Amino acid sequence: MNKALRDAMNDQVRNEFHSAYIYFSMAAYCESINMPGFAHWLYVQSQEEIEHAMKFFDHLNERGERVALQAIEQPPTEFDSLLEIAQAAYGQEQTVTGQINDIYDIAVEEKDYPAQALLQWFAMEQVEEEDTTSQLVERLKMVGDEPAALVMLDRELAGRQPEEEE
Ligand code: MG
Repeated sequence: MNKALRDAMNDQVRNEFHSAYIYFSMAAYCESINMPGFAHWLYVQSQEEIEHAMKFFDHLNERGERVALQAIEQPPTEFDSLLEIAQAAYGQEQTVTGQINDIYDIAVEEKDYPAQALLQWFAMEQVEEEDTTSQLVERLKMVGDEPAALVMLDRELAGRQPEEEE
């Protein structure tokens, strides 16, 4: 496997764990303001990010490459509102989409077809990630500061199920 591609995938293992860490931190905030449904939604989101990290982890191992785990940056711990959290989540997913696209570019350049197949899965996954997080932003904008509506949204988010493994 090409060195630049291997390094980029190792970086992405860290980036996906960093995403998980950010969502766990957001969940902690939601717990602190008594929004367990939002917290649950974020726990499921974190779990997905760990699975994303492991997809790169497994791919590197299957290709006979060495996984080298890196330090994970501290996530933000203070948030002002649920809307701010949703907007930050959407921004995080847009950042990750950019990271995936950059790795894809290397895989194309290097004619690494298995890596391209893996990254195609991620490209489609990012469409979904941006869609679900931007939906949350829009719904929170609709709800505004209406406590009863926030509690109802919280109850709905409590029902999020983990996605089926592909
Ligand atoms: Mg991810």
